[in-house]
Amino acid sequence: MSSYWNQFAQKLDPYVPGEQPKDKKYVKLNTNENPYPPSPKVLTAISEAVNDQLRLYPDPTCDALRQKIANHFELDPDQVFVGNGSDEVLAFSFMTFFEAEKPVAFADITYSFYKVYANLCSLNPKIIALNDDFTIPTDAFCSANGGVVIPNPNAPTGRGLPIEAIKKILNANKDQVVIVDEAYIDFGGTSVVPLINEYPNLLVVRTLSKYSSLAGIRVGFALGQKDLIRGLNTVKNSFNSYTIDRLALAGACAAIEDDAYYRDQAQKIIVTREKTTKRLQALGFSVIPSQSNFIFASHSDVNAEVIFHALRDQGVLVRYFKQPRIDNYMRITIGTDAEMDKLVEALNEILDN
Ligand code: PMP
Repeated sequence: MSSYWNQFAQKLDPYVPGEQPKDKKYVKLNTNENPYPPSPKVLTAISEAVNDQLRLYPDPTCDALRQKIANHFELDPDQVFVGNGSDEVLAFSFMTFFEAEKPVAFADITYSFYKVYANLCSLNPKIIALNDDFTIPTDAFCSANGGVVIPNPNAPTGRGLPIEAIKKILNANKDQVVIVDEAYIDFGGTSVVPLINEYPNLLVVRTLSKYSSLAGIRVGFALGQKDLIRGLNTVKNSFNSYTIDRLALAGACAAIEDDAYYRDQAQKIIVTREKTTKRLQALGFSVIPSQSNFIFASHSDVNAEVIFHALRDQGVLVRYFKQPRIDNYMRITIGTDAEMDKLVEALNEILDN
C-alpha cells in the first residue's frame, strides 16, 4: 500500500458495491434495482431541465423537492433533508449524530455500509447478532446505550420489523438518535414516518433508488424533527451546498408527485416476489420471508457460492456475500416475470447437474 497515504486511510475497509457488469448483458438481479422504468412524467421533467436549466447552479436548499416530499408525508419542509442518494444522507447522519464516546449499534447481518461509515467517522460500532431466524433481537437494541441504526426491512435478509419493536427501541434510547433506514419500505413494510412528531430522536432515511426506479440519479432524503434536520444541514453545508444537481431535482420532484404509478409497479414486484418464493421452495430452497424487492435464499444440497457462479455462467447475476452466518445464502432481486422465468430455468438446470 502507498506510503503516501496516512495511517488512518490505510486502515479503512471500503464498501464493495454490487457489480455493474460490463462484459455482457445479464439478467441483473444483484443490486436491488427496480426492473420497471421510472414514471414517464419523470422522463419529461428531466428532458425539460436538460433543455433550459443546465447553465444555472441548482437550488442549494432543494426547496421545491422538500416541499413536495413534505406534502407527501404530511410534514413541514423543515423536517426534510435531501441528499445525493441515501448513502450520502446516511454518511451525513453518522457525522452529525454519533460520536466516538458512545457506541453506535447495528446488526451483524445488515447493510454493510454502516460499518464502513462508522470506521470512516472513527466511531465505536456495537455489533449486535441477529437471532438465528434473522429477526432483530429487540432487547439487545434497547440496551444499546448509544446511537442505533436499523433498516426496516433489513438488507440482505428482507425481513421486516414490527412497529412495536421500533417504538420499544426509540423509548429505550431517548437521549440518542435512532436511524430507521426505510430503503425498501414500499414493498410491504410498515413505515415509522407517522411516529416522527412523537419522537425527537427518530430519523427516517429513504431513497428514490428502489421504489421510484431512480438509482441512476442518486436522490435520498431524511425525515425527522426540525432540530435533527438543522443538524444535517449544518454538516452538509460545511462540505458542499450543491449536492443535488438540477436533473436529479427535476426527476425527483416528478417522481414524488406520481406515487400512483409507483404503487402499481411495487404491487407487481410484490406479486412476482411471492410467486418466485414458491417456485424456489419447490426447487428445495429455503427462503426468508421478505417484505422487500429481493429474497434471501439458501439450498440444503448445493452451496450458494457454487450456485452463484453457475448462475453467472448462465447470464444471471445475483448477490453472494462471503460472510460468516450467511455464506450459504444468495440475495436475489425481484425482476420482471420474464427475468424470474430465466432465473428459475437456470436454477433447474444447475440443480439437475
Ligand atoms: N440503505 C440500504 C439498506 C440499502 O440497501 C441501500 C442500497 N444499496 C442504501 C441504503 C443506499 O441506497 P442509495 O444510496 O441508492 O439511495
